[in-house]
Amino acid sequence: MADGGEAAAPDGVQRLAAVCAHLEEIRADLREGPGGDGGPVERVLAAARNGGDVAGTLSVLHAVLQASGDPLGLDGYTDHTGSTRGLQPAGISNTGISNTRAEFVYLCPAGRCARYWWPQATAPVPQCAISSTVLRRERL
Ligand SMILES: [Zn+2]
Repeated sequence: MADGGEAAAPDGVQRLAAVCAHLEEIRADLREGPGGDGGPVERVLAAARNGGDVAGTLSVLHAVLQASGDPLGLDGYTDHTGSTRGLQPAGISNTGISNTRAEFVYLCPAGRCARYWWPQATAPVPQCAISSTVLRRERL
């Protein structure tokens, strides 16, 4: 039987979020890799901006990252986005929003990826790598 793991179309928005949030790291890793250039990630950006084959370019990028020595590929970057804490909008409930929780979350302005960012007092709002605009503030 075919193994469905890698063959299934990956959830593109999750991997796109990794690109959106870690573009500079990914570019640096690609330049240091055997290919020596950021072509694979630039093609992902171009596809995302122009409505091209995002899933296809993402899986190429993923494979290139793996080939350059990172067995997790793009999924390794996804881990760093804090997906283990707080993606579940725990603050949104009928009982009201806790005072200690953020009232806003910042989302990808292009709406193309699953990136989100919690406000931090000491950090400026990051930019979306795909649309080159600041993340969009959304009320919880
Ligand atoms: Zn984005």
